[in-house]
Parts: sequence; C-alpha cells; structure tokens
Amino acid sequence: MSGTGARRIRVRVEGLVQGVGFRPFVCGLAGAYGVSGFVGNDPGGVFIEAEGEPATLDAFTAGLTGQAPPLALVERVSVEPAEPVGESGFRIVASRQGEFPDGALVSPDAGTCAACLSELRDPGDRRHRYPFANCTDCGPRFTIVTGVPYDRCATTMADFEMCAGCAREYGDPGDRRFHAQPVCCPACGPALRALGADGRPAAGDPVEVAARWLEAGRIVAIKGLGGYHLAVLAADGSAVAALRARKRRESRPFAVLAPDAAAAGTLVHLDPAAELLLTGARRPIVLAPRRRDAPVADLVAPGARDLGVMLPYTPLHHLLADRLAAPYVLTSGNLTDEPIAYRDEEALRRLAGLADGFLMHDRRIEAPADDSLVRVFRGRELVVRRSRGYAPAPIGVPWPFPRPVLACGAQLKNTFCVARGNQAFLSQHIGDLESYETLRSFAEGVEHFCRIFGVRPAVVAHDLHPEYLSTAYARDREGVDLIGVQHHHAHIASCLAEHGHGGPVIGVAFDGLGLGEDGTLWGGELLVADLVSFRRAGHLEAVPMPGGAAAVRQPWRMAAAWLDRIHGDALPGLPVAERHREQWPVVVRMARAGLNSPLTSSAGRLFDAVAAIAGVRDVIGHEGQAAAELEARVDPGERGAYPARLIEGEPLVIAAGDLVGAAAEDVAAGVDAGRIAARFHRGLAAAVVRAVRVLGEGTGLRTVALSGGVFQNAVLLEAVLCGLERERFTVLVHSRVPPGDGGIALGQAVVAAANDRR
Ligand code: ZN
Ligand code: ZN
Ligand code: FE
Repeated sequence: MSGTGARRIRVRVEGLVQGVGFRPFVCGLAGAYGVSGFVGNDPGGVFIEAEGEPATLDAFTAGLTGQAPPLALVERVSVEPAEPVGESGFRIVASRQGEFPDGALVSPDAGTCAACLSELRDPGDRRHRYPFANCTDCGPRFTIVTGVPYDRCATTMADFEMCAGCAREYGDPGDRRFHAQPVCCPACGPALRALGADGRPAAGDPVEVAARWLEAGRIVAIKGLGGYHLAVLAADGSAVAALRARKRRESRPFAVLAPDAAAAGTLVHLDPAAELLLTGARRPIVLAPRRRDAPVADLVAPGARDLGVMLPYTPLHHLLADRLAAPYVLTSGNLTDEPIAYRDEEALRRLAGLADGFLMHDRRIEAPADDSLVRVFRGRELVVRRSRGYAPAPIGVPWPFPRPVLACGAQLKNTFCVARGNQAFLSQHIGDLESYETLRSFAEGVEHFCRIFGVRPAVVAHDLHPEYLSTAYARDREGVDLIGVQHHHAHIASCLAEHGHGGPVIGVAFDGLGLGEDGTLWGGELLVADLVSFRRAGHLEAVPMPGGAAAVRQPWRMAAAWLDRIHGDALPGLPVAERHREQWPVVVRMARAGLNSPLTSSAGRLFDAVAAIAGVRDVIGHEGQAAAELEARVDPGERGAYPARLIEGEPLVIAAGDLVGAAAEDVAAGVDAGRIAARFHRGLAAAVVRAVRVLGEGTGLRTVALSGGVFQNAVLLEAVLCGLERERFTVLVHSRVPPGDGGIALGQAVVAAANDRR
C-alpha cells in the first residue's frame, strides 16, 4: 500500500457531534474526497479512520470543522497516524458503548427544518401531515435522550421499530435522514390522538378536533417537545381569562405562537436581530415591543410593553398553526409554580381540571424542557430563560474543572450545572424550588444530566442560603466536597465564565434578594471579584423590608420603609400612603422596631418602592412585575435624572434614598409616572457609574461585569453601559447565559472549580 502513497489516519472529533447528522456528513465528505474508511460514535464523540492521498486527507480533515452540519459544534479534531489497510469505500460502523463516557455531548432539540416542512405540506409525500417528521438537521434530541452514546436505542424512539421505508432512508448515505435517530413515518412512528376532558378518545383527525376545540373557546393541552402546554386562541379574551383563572396565574404574561414570521410581525415590532432569533433552529420565545393593534386579547400580557412570540417548532405545532391561521397562546401545562407536566399519565391527572381536551401522542419525553425566552439587546441575543433548544449545549470555559462539579443553583428560576473538563452544562429551566414537585424535577434533572454526560460529581457547589432547597439538596449529597458560594459572587462569576474572563473585575450585581456574608439580604452590590473570592466594595443603602416576604409581594411596603427613613413623622401627604392609610402606620412601626424586617440593599426592592410611589404598582402577582412595569412606563423623551449621593467609605454606599425622595417630590408636584420612571432609571444608572469610577480609581481595575436579574431591564442596562463606556471601562454583559438566577449555577460551578484548583 505504501507504494501508492496512501496514508491512513485515526481522527477523533469532540464537541456537539452526536445526533446532528455528523456521521452522514463525514460519509459525504469522504465520498467527495474519495477517502476510504469508517466513522462511528463512541461516548467521547466521533471516531474516524480515513485512508487516502496525504493532500486529500488534509482537505478531508479541514472539512470536518469547516463544513460541519448546522447543528454541530466541533470543539476539537485530533489526528494520529495509522497503518494503511487498503480497504475501499466509506461506511458507518456500530457505536462503541463505553463504561465511563467522558466527552460526549447531547444536542439540544431543534425546530423543524425547511425540507421537513415542505414534505409536511406536500400531499404527494409519505410524510404529508405527519406530526413527527424530522431529519438529521431537525427534531427532538435532548428531550428524548435516555443515555449515551446517542443512538436510537438510547432514545425514547427505541419504542418504535423502523419500517422498511424508514430503515432504507436511515441506512442510505445519500439520504438526509441517514442515521437520524428519531426517523419515523406514519407507518412505523408515533401517532397522535385527541382525548376529551373525560379521557375518552375523540373521533376524527386529532389536529382538526383540537382546532375546533380552540375555535370554540376551549383550553387544549398539547404535548410538545419538552412537555405539555395549554393553548387557547390568543384573540379570545374569555378563553384567555379562563386559562388565567384555571392556571391560577394572575398576571405573568403568556407567550403567543404565530404561524410564521409575517404573522409574528403583526403582533410585535421585529428588528432583523429579533427576526433571526425567531426563525432560527432553537425557536425561543422572543420578547419584542407589542404592536398597538396586535390581534391579541389584553389579558395575554397585561401591563406589559413587550409580547413574547414564537414560531412553530414541531410539525404538530405547524399543522395546528396552519389550520387555525391565527396566533394561539402556548403556556406550560401546569398550575402556577409547578413544573411542566411531561409524562402522559401525570399530565392527564394534573391537567384534568385545567384542560378541556388533550392533543397527545405516544412518543415519550425523557427530560422536560420549558420554552426558552430571549430578547435583543444592542443587536445581540440576551437569554432570559435558557431551556428548550439551548440546554444542554456546552458552555466552554478556559479553565479546566479539576474534578467534576455539580452546582445546585439558586431557589427561584432554578437551573443546575454539571461541569467536567473544559465544559459546563447548564440545565434546562427547573423553576422555583418551592414545592415537592419542583424539587423532584430538580433531582431527576440532576440524575439525567449526570447520566448523559457521564459525570460523577466530586465537588458540589451551593448558595449560602440555608433554606434554599437547592442548598439542602447539596448538603444531603454524601462523599463529596461542598463549597458554598455567595449569591452575588456567583452572579458575577457567571458573567465572567460566559466571557472566559478570570477577573479581577468590578462586578455590579443587581437583583431581587440573595443572602449576604453578613447575614443581611443583599441585592444592590458592587463587588471586586475574581473567580476565587470577592470583596464587597460598595452597595445600595440598606433599608428594612417590613414583613419580609410580604414586602416582596407588596411593593408599597418598601415605599413605606423608604419614605419613613427619609421623612420620619413628617411624611408629606402622598397618594401611596393614602391608598394604604390603614396598614401604613403598622408597617412603619414594624420597620422601625426591626420586627420581621430584615435589612436589604436590594435593587429589585428599590424599584418596587419607586413603582409604588409613582402609582405604577402596589401589589404584585409575579416576581419582578413592579420593576418590569416601571421600565415599561419610562418616557424615552425625558432627559432628567434624579441625583444620588455617594457615601464614601469601606464599603462605598449609594444613597438610594435620594432617588426615592426625589420621586416622591415629583409625585407631590404632579409629574407623570413616565417621567418619574425615566428620571429614576437614569439617576440610578448615573449613581452606579460614579460608584464604579470611584472603585476603578481605588483599585486600578478597568473591567466591569454587570449581572443579576435587574439587568434584564434593558433601559437600565443601556444607561449603565453607556455611562461606563463613556468612562472608558470595558464592560462584560450577559448574552448566552441569563443575568438572573437562571445563570447562577454556572457561576457557582466556576467559583467552586477555582477554589478546588487551589
Ligand atoms: Zn428536518
Ligand atoms: Zn417508517
Ligand atoms: Fe439573584
């Protein structure tokens, strides 16, 4: 063989290369270059042996990265020489199962591709109107994977035996379903059915039945990729009201599914970046400014400036959208605060009182995944909830994890993170860990991740808050090293990890609440931080939170605490005090006595106080509502800003009371809420920028990281960013990882690893 000049190489490809059509792609590439050999999956990724002329092999190897399929993410290609064997042709060989998978990745689910969609709509195609059509470029992945390596037997599609037609496509290197693990058709794959509220099958085409139910104003439970959703027609005000009542969801906005991008454009104003996210394969809910004439009932997103829209991401959602030719609300199938229902039996039981009918099928969901939520900030994606379509894609970090880490995350909007090698895997959205159901979902999620990524955690990171269920879960793990990570340090570290920046930086962590090292509740923090440790260099002025959790639900209590701090007994007459005339003195006494009134420096609570004073919102129905509504009210034409003093010292204190006092004065003077909201946002941003300048002078640091849920507020983020850029700071902001508590597990993981390395 050596006489012909042929050489043989052994290639290993690592990254997101399973379940994304990588082996067929390698076959095609080998065919194009006339290379012989084979390709297969193993727990570490893809292995290849290739034989050919040296120059051809080089081109072939380069093509592995350069021409990879759309859903693949090639992280490393390593090549070593082998002995030529002189075989002919190129084939896919059986997967090698491994004892201890290390390095394999599982792809996120991907929305239906254009080719599958046109088959779906083609009366001549054997998959015409087939709700489970998919190919190597699209379809379910993470939500059906039961183990590694990614092969049909390690997915819930193992329940279905391929027919001859599908087997032919699956085995044909020239077919776009070549080795697509979930391949199926009407003859062999899952089937749809419609059940009435009583659990009895409804006669007729299930999509048609469901469409008629929706048109009659009914609530229909629909089994999607990552769980059951509840649907109603978005324009049907009474159906939306019924959905709110039954879900016990008073105010949190619903997302709306539009048949296509043009229809979405009639609901919201889409800039090119938003349209790209909307139509991309990950298919998140995209938050965008709602059109005034959007054909959507007011109750879909009451009080919100933005509306969350998405496009169909499975053939089933396409079929229903095509039939209805109207947007429908699609919200997770659960009672508020419970995890999404995803097992059939459980869904029928849990959703029995919520849905009037079920559109379901017999492909099992292995892992639940809620819809992801994103918005656009400065032309870039800002992920607010990272779940279906995103998880469990790896987040690469430049610092290896010396031992496998499990980070348990926070209490609200929980996600967890497992990490090994140079990769962190942030979980899908789990939810608020406040019920047994959510905790079970958390524990099952951890098990699933550890299984599919072959991780046995040796280090377990958790929040400092002893009452978080995620902390309790961490402390129950045996035979591991526990590392507690302060909440706001974890926020800043998550931003650093996303940027591969090791610090030190000046971190601005603004959020609702997180337990501080001094036992008070933090949330308006300026930290000098790296991955190992941090120093609290500054914070917002702290006030009592009268009634603790009650003050979170009732923003007017924060107004009372602040106004009493500023004015004492000389409080001038203000509408907010008038509205709560009876309880006001009680709440003030509580705050003064420190009775059930923990001190907090929270930025979120500061927004609450100003929202109540400005008459925007006194009592909330969901977390962050008052702040979001205050942001929505900002008058963009207003150029004024409330002044706030800096009280220098260690730590530096931003006199947030100055902002509150100025807002109250404006209310008394009859200034409207839009201008008050603008002056408050601009004043707070200016104070933050000045504080960072002082810390920059003191430390010599020129890089700032912005994190915490408050930085989902685009108005505040833009104002702080502009100010810091004017001061020539380098500013790190979130994009792929949520700034809120959904990103915290990543921060915990990298802090734990940095301490583990020491
Ligand atoms: Zn496809
Ligand atoms: Zn078939
Ligand atoms: Fe937080």
